[in-house]
Amino acid sequence: MNIFLIFLSHITCKNLTGHYCDGVQFHITSLKPIRPQNKPIAREKQFLRKFEQGVKEKGVFIQKGGKIYYFYMGPLITKKACLKCHAGQGYKEGDIRGGISVTVPFVMNIPLLPLLIGHISIAFIGILGIIIAEKKITQAYETIQKQAVIDALTGIPNRRSFSETLLKEIGRSHRNQNPLSVIMCDIDNFKIYNDTYGHIKGDMCLQKVAQAIKACIKRSSDFCARYGGEEFVVLLPNTPLDDAIFVAEMIRSDIEKMKILSKNSLPAGIVTLSLGVSSTEGNTVFEPETIIKNADTALYKAKEQGRNQVQSFREIT
Ligand code: GH3
Ligand code: MG
Ligand code: MG
Repeated sequence: MNIFLIFLSHITCKNLTGHYCDGVQFHITSLKPIRPQNKPIAREKQFLRKFEQGVKEKGVFIQKGGKIYYFYMGPLITKKACLKCHAGQGYKEGDIRGGISVTVPFVMNIPLLPLLIGHISIAFIGILGIIIAEKKITQAYETIQKQAVIDALTGIPNRRSFSETLLKEIGRSHRNQNPLSVIMCDIDNFKIYNDTYGHIKGDMCLQKVAQAIKACIKRSSDFCARYGGEEFVVLLPNTPLDDAIFVAEMIRSDIEKMKILSKNSLPAGIVTLSLGVSSTEGNTVFEPETIIKNADTALYKAKEQGRNQVQSFREIT
């Protein structure tokens, strides 16, 4: 029954406040109602308090206008998806944020079998609805979460995801006294590639390069992301500079071996990468901006020295 109420709240919380259907009344209510229609009556208030004390559901027979009704109520529990609208009221996931009451006329003279069949059918449709609704909500939630951290074109993590990971890893590197290294990668003469083959081929090239970089990072803690445009970044926790230079060289050579034709890019006539490497190794204090800036400086040097090569910040300072 509880699940049925949750389902009702998903589909109706925007517009079902006090609804009658063949004498059956539904009411969504809360001790902190957003709208006046959701204000609880005395009995609902009493039940809502019981829910907050851990009672799972409650039902009583009541008399109204000389008729007998069954009044049933179940709690609405705050789910992750509800927080979008209800976090502002101070609710957290798992909190009781209200309840749904159902008032059903108690009719004695209905033949039992049709009543039973009717109830089973409603329950079956309800459960089916719940399963479908829950699945759709979960899928939508997962898609939104994924879109927030994955680059849509290449399928690898995006810059936002990289920035969050970098912060975490710099903290870990400090605590564990382990070196953290960063490789900045930039496709050489990519503007020429786009001008020669068009933007769609350019996008395909970015996808190939992203997958090749991803294939070069082996440890589960290693991380690569699209930093922006035709730039990629690799984060190597617990890796000294020399090992990071080795990984960078492997990435460079793998891209070269792919021999993606770029006939107007001199001198190689194929797509190549320039890479700059920096590390926290030998430093006691480190800011995320510094490690990126140092890798960028090394990358700039690699471009200046003729492209299709790896430079490290240590070697050029
Ligand atoms: P350099 O070797 O100095 O890096 O030269 P470059 O041509 O690669 O660098 P520049 O910054 O001049 O040009 C970058 C190009 O990357 C220009 C831009 O159109 C292209 N680019 C950036 N993002 C995308 C994208 O998402 N898709 C495609 N197809 N091209 C992109
Ligand atoms: Mg660039
Ligand atoms: Mg470039």
